[in-house]
Amino acid sequence: MNFKQTAQADFKDTSNVVIGFVGKEEDALSPLPTDLASQVSQWRTAKWVSPKEGSVTPLLRGEGSPVMLIGVGDTLHLTENKLKKAATAIASVLKQSQQKSVTVLLDNLKVRDRTQNWVVTKLVEWTLTGAYNYDTTKSEKNTQYTTEHFLLAGDGEFEEAIRHGKALAHGVNVARELGNLPPNICTPTYLAEQAISLADRYSPIHTEILEEAEMEELGMGAFMAVSKGSDQPGKMIIMHYKGAGDDVKPHVLVGKGLTFDTGGISLKPAAKMDEMKYDMCGAASVFGTMSTLAELQPKINVVAIVAAAENMPSARATRPGDVVTSMSGKTVEILNTDAEGRLVLCDALTYAERYKPQSVVNMATLTGAIVVGLGHHPIGLYSNDEGLQKDLVAAGQKAWDRAWPMPLWDDYREEMESPYADLRNIGQGPAGGSITAAIYLSEFTKDYTWAHLDIAGAAWTSAKSGATGRPVGLLTEYLLSKVG
Ligand SMILES: [Zn+2]
Repeated sequence: MNFKQTAQADFKDTSNVVIGFVGKEEDALSPLPTDLASQVSQWRTAKWVSPKEGSVTPLLRGEGSPVMLIGVGDTLHLTENKLKKAATAIASVLKQSQQKSVTVLLDNLKVRDRTQNWVVTKLVEWTLTGAYNYDTTKSEKNTQYTTEHFLLAGDGEFEEAIRHGKALAHGVNVARELGNLPPNICTPTYLAEQAISLADRYSPIHTEILEEAEMEELGMGAFMAVSKGSDQPGKMIIMHYKGAGDDVKPHVLVGKGLTFDTGGISLKPAAKMDEMKYDMCGAASVFGTMSTLAELQPKINVVAIVAAAENMPSARATRPGDVVTSMSGKTVEILNTDAEGRLVLCDALTYAERYKPQSVVNMATLTGAIVVGLGHHPIGLYSNDEGLQKDLVAAGQKAWDRAWPMPLWDDYREEMESPYADLRNIGQGPAGGSITAAIYLSEFTKDYTWAHLDIAGAAWTSAKSGATGRPVGLLTEYLLSKVG
């Protein structure tokens, strides 16, 4: 689909659907031709046209372009969430109308405290993510939109905003697709293949894969403690995005890629265990962000590390009570084999030191505790650096993919003490479980500026829509803010 700006909408072309917005306020109708506007005004009084958020009213017209009005509620000065609903409604029009071109009337569509370019970026992004529909493993495919031209009618220069929105949507949909794929397909090996194909497609990216033998040699005993119980070989996937000179130190992203998490010997209950295919959504967001960067090509260096493994119970699996030595040299008493994300991550985080990074941000569906604490909206954010924390909060606000700061206080450190090792892999009880997980990780990140995003509440929903693609938006805005 081709996105383009146009000064004025064509209301005569019958192969073009015009999409306008209707609120309770009168001014909404001004971009419509006068005769149509006055007709709509009457219909609205008669309640034939609904200003209800997300509703779509097709206007019956004798001739010219079909017109669809999307309800946006009280006022055309929207909130971000209302704009997202409107974009989702546009996506549903795309899927249903099967017209060659669609024109969206941007005049009057405003979001409080946001520029018109921001509105365009998000409208493009959310329309394209709204049109995504998983069908890869279904024999009968979903209806895809056939629209070739997507026109944005309004004043301004939107070319860059459109490019940005398309790249974000591409990355978010890459992350959603990887998240939604079943765990018998999306294995650590599959993820490694995706990294190789990303490097084949985009010249600024190159990929290296560390196999288990190399990880053993590097002393990644914590990673191997998770991976060794599975017949699927674990992979440490490293992708380099090079947009700046060799002397520019990289920002590093680290993603938890548990392609399936049974809990290991500390087996999870059966109910909803299928959802543990989403335990690689941190990794998925890394792939999504790298895809977005590859399209936008900012002048920045990024290294992305994906710790990909499967957590299975078997005769080779780690026992509760086992003590292992991590790559950092620290020994860890593994008291619960279901707290495995932090085990694969701690070795990836130690590995990241070699890049002398400007910052390291890791993403992990790490704890159920963060879902209890924050629900499904904000991402739990922990950092050992106030500046980085502020930057990530701001990036989340910009992307409308928000994170909320959590305490990384040493008060919690005592809970991680073990009589048998340098630290244990879980706190003393369920209280503050997301925080003690972050405390564990912080033991391995003392040498650089670091943040941890606990995305267990944000990365997927139990609903049909599945993986959300978060936090591709936040990460992209953060990295773009570091350019030059
Ligand atoms: Zn687990």
